[in-house]
Amino acid sequence: MKEYPKIILKHGKDEALRRRHQWLFSGAIQQIEGHPEEGSIVEIFSSRNEFLGMGHYNDGSIAVRIFSFEQVIPDTVFWKQKLERALQFREALGLCSSPNTNVYRLVFGEGDEMPGLIIDFYNGTAVIQCHSYGMYLLRDNITAALKELYGYKLQSVFIKSKETLPTKFGDLVQDEYLYGGTSENLVSENSCKFFVDWEQGQKTGFFIDQRENRKLLMQYCHEKKVLNTFSYTGGFSVYALKAGASLVHSVDSSAKAIALTEQNIAINGYADKKHESFKSDVVEFMKHTEETYDVIILDPPAYAKHIKTKHKAMQGYKRLNEMAIRKINRSGFIFTFSCSQVVESSLFRSTVIAAAIQSERNVRIIAQLSQPADHPVSAFHPEGEYLKGLVLFVE
Ligand code: SAH
Repeated sequence: MKEYPKIILKHGKDEALRRRHQWLFSGAIQQIEGHPEEGSIVEIFSSRNEFLGMGHYNDGSIAVRIFSFEQVIPDTVFWKQKLERALQFREALGLCSSPNTNVYRLVFGEGDEMPGLIIDFYNGTAVIQCHSYGMYLLRDNITAALKELYGYKLQSVFIKSKETLPTKFGDLVQDEYLYGGTSENLVSENSCKFFVDWEQGQKTGFFIDQRENRKLLMQYCHEKKVLNTFSYTGGFSVYALKAGASLVHSVDSSAKAIALTEQNIAINGYADKKHESFKSDVVEFMKHTEETYDVIILDPPAYAKHIKTKHKAMQGYKRLNEMAIRKINRSGFIFTFSCSQVVESSLFRSTVIAAAIQSERNVRIIAQLSQPADHPVSAFHPEGEYLKGLVLFVE
């Protein structure tokens, strides 16, 4: 068996790993034997020399992302089996053979016991996004495994990790096709069509995590005036129009996002008077628009990317929600979200409640939303939970 650099923990620092938590923090390390480089595979042992796990080494606060709590040979077969399990889970969820949906998340990092790895499947194209250099180094193994698993259903594999890996890897990584080339980038989600720009778009190109929430929105949009803020590709707007909304306004500050929104509205056949998009800051738009709305969607980018910015972020969420609550018509519905991982759902909820109190309107919380099942949260890694939302009914 190959010898890997060995990490020995301080006495008493093995508890989290025994609970199968997949991050080893640098503060728990007593000693490193060997000279692991960024992305090297290492083995972790307790202070009493008991094997605890193996993973990818990283020169940072999360020193190791653990991909196995057993001593394994991490070869192509090992990774193929992991991907196979991820695929079988999505099959069990009914996502792989649906006539209406051909886009889903195949791998969600720790939720699939592959920390540092995201893979989204877009109607034949797998888009890989790495959050650890160790995973990036495995890109060819992963591509080979995907080809075997999907067979003819896989037309191309694109890796897009420049923006997600620490900047020090900037010159070492490239966003490129690892298999195939530009392929069909039209996907279908609950029978709604979307162009996905995985090469240039945000994240892997599309926010798959809102699939179930977009579907729920449809229940509330028939003959309603809808404001979709932070629209990006226009996901919520397309669903609202499909549900028979009488008017939909999409707002995003990025010209590219507005272009994507309009393209997606058009390919679904809704490019008529019912839809209009606005390139604007959301707060400015809400301040100045004279239109009134029955349904408002608030899906801002992560206001708090780090614990240090959490306090300021909460003020941002409060202000945004208060504005929408004040603005919405009587008997209106607000779909409000936060995708900041560091903002717990209870804190988000109390912030929205604070906004409701300030607005002096009667507000009911009628649903609590989260991320869909193809973004699973490992019971041993609760940090995987990041998307939370509330549906409000405002009188
Ligand atoms: N709701 C979308 C995802 C939103 S991503 C979906 O379902 O796909 C966040 C979007 O907010 C991005 O497109 C970004 O361009 C936009 N954005 C960020 N800050 C903004 C601001 N202050 N005003 C308007 N749009 C903003």
